[in-house]
Amino acid sequence: MLDLKLQFQGMREEILAAVTEVLESQRLILGPRVAELETQIASLTGVRHAVGCASGSDAILLALAACGVTGGAKVVTSPFSFFASAGSIAHAGGRPLFCDIEPDTFNMDPRLLAAALSSEVRAALPVHLFGQCADMDPILAACGARGIPVVEDAAQAIGATYRGSNGGGPERRAGSMGRAGCISFFPSKNLGGAGDGGMVTTGDDELAARLRLLRVHGGRKMYHHEQIGWNSRLDELQAAVLLVKLGRLATWSEARAQRAGFYDRLFNESGLPSRGLVTPPVIKPGRGHIFHQYTIRAQRRDSLREHLESAGIATGVYYPVPLHLQECFRPLGYAKGDFPQSERACEEVLSLPVYPELTEQAQRTVVGAISSFYGLATQRA
Ligand SMILES: *Cc1c(COP(=O)(O)O)cnc(C)c1O
Repeated sequence: MLDLKLQFQGMREEILAAVTEVLESQRLILGPRVAELETQIASLTGVRHAVGCASGSDAILLALAACGVTGGAKVVTSPFSFFASAGSIAHAGGRPLFCDIEPDTFNMDPRLLAAALSSEVRAALPVHLFGQCADMDPILAACGARGIPVVEDAAQAIGATYRGSNGGGPERRAGSMGRAGCISFFPSKNLGGAGDGGMVTTGDDELAARLRLLRVHGGRKMYHHEQIGWNSRLDELQAAVLLVKLGRLATWSEARAQRAGFYDRLFNESGLPSRGLVTPPVIKPGRGHIFHQYTIRAQRRDSLREHLESAGIATGVYYPVPLHLQECFRPLGYAKGDFPQSERACEEVLSLPVYPELTEQAQRTVVGAISSFYGLATQRA
């Protein structure tokens, strides 16, 4: 799905030098490299503050806690996401409340969100799934009207852009639109470290100060604690590696989008979409999709996946089980049928390899193997 060894080979000397420098300095946690990374991520996102922490999951936890989510507070999110979107709500002491997705983008449906808002809802957590921003304007409007803070789960969307529902407004970046945005540096993300890491972005000075407290056990002064926080800090080693990679992120995102466009072309030539066998990803107008994943819908998805596997092609199913049907959330009282679009997506989605080093030849092989599964010949050799 992703060849990180190939990526490392292309930047080996720079990364080893950066890591060696950290080890020589023995400044290991929340030092100058973390501060530099925070400055650069804030600038990339277009906000005043970025606060490093231990993971993307913790970024969500800290952001929700800093927005005042505590015991029993309801937080609305998408049931079609990585587990952490809902898991971190629960860790903050909140109660996940789900609302279904738009079938084309797989993101939270703003109309269903508006219908789910009640006086008990303390925050909304839209997810920018696969690297495309959710339709933020109507989400912000619905929440703003009720004074509900919006925290963006931008774990998969660093650098993704949004220009409003019809694509004609000013360009904004993922993580800059809500009260806070949450980024993950998990190694397989578009900007991945050499281990876990995360960051919260915000334009709110007070919120940033609260986040800086909460990540160090809630104490401004050593051994004096105003609040019960967490140990969730970012390492200098991670920041050093991420700073090297950050310089390449724009080029990588462009390369991913170029490869996505090439898949689109191959699929159109294959005749699979017009026969309803495969649905390529839909990009809404004005959205800068960074293609963390290139995710299709496919008829007989599981058999197709096996066919590809036996041809040596790795694929991913993100995600096979919607969050409202996870065993651990049974106490929330949801049942099968509650969120039909999310449930259908879980049965149909298939993510294909997409990364900057992926070759055209490999992409032709992937689409050729999909065509042969459905009994269609590829048009080109
Ligand atoms: C990866 C991811 C997270 C969690 O990030 P970690 O760094 O793995 O903790 C949260 N939400 C989404 C949508 C993700 O993809």
